[in-house]
Amino acid sequence: MTNPACERWHLLLQADHDGELTASEATDLMVHLAGCAACRAERDGLAALSEGLRALPRHAAPAALRAALTRQAAMPPAAAPPRPRRAWAGGALGLALAACIAAVMLLPRAPDPDAAAIASHIRALQPGHLTDVLSSDQHTVKPWFNGRLDYAPPVRDFASAGYPLLGGRLDYLAGRDVAALVYGRDRHIIDLFVWPSDQSGSAEHVASGYNTVAWNGGGMRFVAVSDLNMAELRGFAALWGDAGR
Ligand SMILES: [Zn+2]
Repeated sequence: MTNPACERWHLLLQADHDGELTASEATDLMVHLAGCAACRAERDGLAALSEGLRALPRHAAPAALRAALTRQAAMPPAAAPPRPRRAWAGGALGLALAACIAAVMLLPRAPDPDAAAIASHIRALQPGHLTDVLSSDQHTVKPWFNGRLDYAPPVRDFASAGYPLLGGRLDYLAGRDVAALVYGRDRHIIDLFVWPSDQSGSAEHVASGYNTVAWNGGGMRFVAVSDLNMAELRGFAALWGDAGR
């Protein structure tokens, strides 16, 4: 049974499958998927369907059909109105371009890892790039990093405090592979980069509309990046302090 409230998400799933979502649509969809088993099943069904279609044997067209198509192609085209470009496809492309430009502009001027984290966060907001493992269960996300990193990042869920874990991915920062944990806060996404470091001290950073809060604990460097306001991002960092990091 399809929940009527999920019909919009099913449309977005199909658009996502075709790579046509804007970053903010992809973000909304991911937040919904984390909490909706029915839509996760729909997404898995779509993926299986397209796998199946790809695996179908292909047959050559009969000669008569090919001849008819060739004749048609040779005829002068009827004056058809140009097909309108889908507005959201243009939007996604524009956003992707803007994000790439922002990422390129951020990196050379700000070589420190905290600013590089902003560039990584912007890149990750591209559709399909946010998570490699999509799960709100820390016991699923943590072992996913086994064998992918040479350290075990601490993974915690703070759903009860309003910062649900959405998943994780591998990223590259500070000259090494790092764990990126993805959290939600209302309609905002927080990327938390974690890697072993003996660096000490906390820091805050504001650039291009993004905030970062960085701190150290348990031999790890933590850098949280989001377009969330600084007060709520500090609140997220404080949860890690309370949890003993
Ligand atoms: Zn749903």
